[in-house]
Amino acid sequence: MENILKEIPKVELHCHLDGSVRAETMYELLAKDEKIGTKSFKEFQEMVRVKDDCKSLVEYLEKFNYPLKVMQGKPNIERITYELLEDLNTQNVKYVEIRFAPTLHMKEGLTFDEVVESVLKGMERAKKGFGILSNAVLICMRHESVNESIKVVEMGKKYLGKGVVAVDLAGNEGDFPPEIHKEAFDLAYEKGYHITVHAGETGIEENIIKSIELLHAQRIGHGIAAIKNSRIMEMVKKNHISLEMCPISNLQTKAVKYIEDYPIKTFMDKGLRVTINTDNATVSNTSLEREYGLLMDKLGFSMDEILKLIDNSIEAAFLPKGEKMSLRKTIKDELIKRGILQ
Ligand SMILES: [Zn+2]
Repeated sequence: MENILKEIPKVELHCHLDGSVRAETMYELLAKDEKIGTKSFKEFQEMVRVKDDCKSLVEYLEKFNYPLKVMQGKPNIERITYELLEDLNTQNVKYVEIRFAPTLHMKEGLTFDEVVESVLKGMERAKKGFGILSNAVLICMRHESVNESIKVVEMGKKYLGKGVVAVDLAGNEGDFPPEIHKEAFDLAYEKGYHITVHAGETGIEENIIKSIELLHAQRIGHGIAAIKNSRIMEMVKKNHISLEMCPISNLQTKAVKYIEDYPIKTFMDKGLRVTINTDNATVSNTSLEREYGLLMDKLGFSMDEILKLIDNSIEAAFLPKGEKMSLRKTIKDELIKRGILQ
């Protein structure tokens, strides 16, 4: 079964660029850093991945210090984007939406445009090199002011249709509720961005309602807390909101303690559109193959259910209708060719 999961064509919608940097690349780029230089690669790898006994989201987020350190220059950002797509291509991912917060890469002088264009260049180069399709999602950070978020929306506007498709809100959900950034997301909605919002990752179910009602969210990152309230699940369903679930990350951050408690089956039974994603391939030491494998091993998912999840991802993708149809056809044709679909 593992082989089939490796082979099947896949779609990834919730993938943080800074959480998915090759450890080898970080190690190479940090070689001159006195703290890293003396460590073996194996030791370093342990430093950039969470351990199974990770206590919380806060501890999880500490792992982002190293990638952000090496992502303050144009060539590095382009290279890291390209390499991520190269890795996803070998895992037979056909389409990916890569997200990043431009402001986190502007600490050493890069401008907003330089950050975004470096990512887009990496994407373009990967598309030319091996045909993988990708789009970018610009992240507004919750702890920053609404004015910073407005700037992201305003400055990102010229890249709409040129590789950027959406905005997202991410970061500390407990202390910075969605409504703080309402003005920025109203503007994003007006300008024609697609909208996804991290909400209900760490137990605050109201954030899911607010993200849909106040921030125009079409997709919700994680959304686990919807399980607490059937009215919210109903609302997610009625508004055709897709959930970007990331099981391994959610287990590590203790969003859920045991995989047996993961609410995915309930969501699917209630008719919610669930998608499966990696969140952070490096930090979480995962891949779509591992995520699907976990669902099959621990929650008894069938191959048909996995294919349904992949189809949900196609449906939820921030792609124009025509491109979505052609992605669906590519994937279906390949599944037939591999004898997985009749
Ligand atoms: Zn995320």
